[in-house]
Amino acid sequence: MPRKYSKKPAQQERIAKNRIKFLFQHAKEVFKEDSKLADKYVKLARRIAMKYKIRLPSSLKKKFCKHCHRYLVPGVNSRVRLHKHRLIYYCMSCRHYTRYPVK
Ligand SMILES: [Zn+2]
Repeated sequence: MPRKYSKKPAQQERIAKNRIKFLFQHAKEVFKEDSKLADKYVKLARRIAMKYKIRLPSSLKKKFCKHCHRYLVPGVNSRVRLHKHRLIYYCMSCRHYTRYPVK
């Protein structure tokens, strides 16, 4: 089957965005009890974003690790430092750093 690169209808995109938001909310709620389930929600949210070609807002991007895609909670499984006008997130599970510029 040939792959289509056209954009999905606006309504579908809106539903997808809501689902992503919902998944991140749930990830936050379940993290304390089951961090693996939170990771699963991140995976699902990323899959939806890819399918509908939605760019995750930076506020959501900071909630998971760019390298291992695990849900991150500062002080629990990640560390956040401010260095040279950049936010540096350190993931404790894969030991990678992710940098975000600060406006
Ligand atoms: Zn990681």
